[in-house]
Amino acid sequence: MACGLKASVAEVARTMHREGLVVGSAGNVSARAEGDSAMHITPTGVLYADMTVDHVVTVTFEGDPIEGEGLPSSESLLHGAIYAARPDVQAVVHAHPVHASAMAVRQEAIPAFVDEQVVYLGGAVAVSDYAPAASEELADNAVEGLGERRAVLLANHGTLTVGRDPEDALEMTRLTERLAQIWLLASGRPGAQHLPRDIVEAEIELYRMMQSEGDV
Ligand SMILES: [Zn+2]
Repeated sequence: MACGLKASVAEVARTMHREGLVVGSAGNVSARAEGDSAMHITPTGVLYADMTVDHVVTVTFEGDPIEGEGLPSSESLLHGAIYAARPDVQAVVHAHPVHASAMAVRQEAIPAFVDEQVVYLGGAVAVSDYAPAASEELADNAVEGLGERRAVLLANHGTLTVGRDPEDALEMTRLTERLAQIWLLASGRPGAQHLPRDIVEAEIELYRMMQSEGDV
């Protein structure tokens, strides 16, 4: 089973690269390891196009190696902090998609403007406070920015999304990128509207219900 999870981490890394959500070996993918405070994560310095299950390493939430020969991702602290703070999260994807990263550079949250966004991601996508890549501060800020939701923009950097498995977390990256693209198009002209506040509140309740039932 652990091997299946590692294979899924490698596959999602390759898909993320193929879809242009990252270039080279930027970004990273992980899955919570079963039974203890550990995760399977993509290594640093391996091009995603060449990533196989054998490259995926197992580390503690602090990034200390448990299994595997590669050097774990430089963003291991970021992934570990999310697993420690959110017991419901089974997988994390960090990427640099163009439109969502543009919003992150503007340090502008993606407001709640379509229903699927609130139901799947839990509401507006916040921007976490800026901190340098690979720092403990980045990890802390990301946890705070993510809150109970499933996506956050990392200021001047990229995206972080979570899910019940790596493919699900990747789907949330795709959704976040799509929302950013729509919002950048819509907000460039006068008249772009957010969803009404009462609708957002009702949909957040639905999101929480689905989360607690494991449906999201
Ligand atoms: Zn990054």
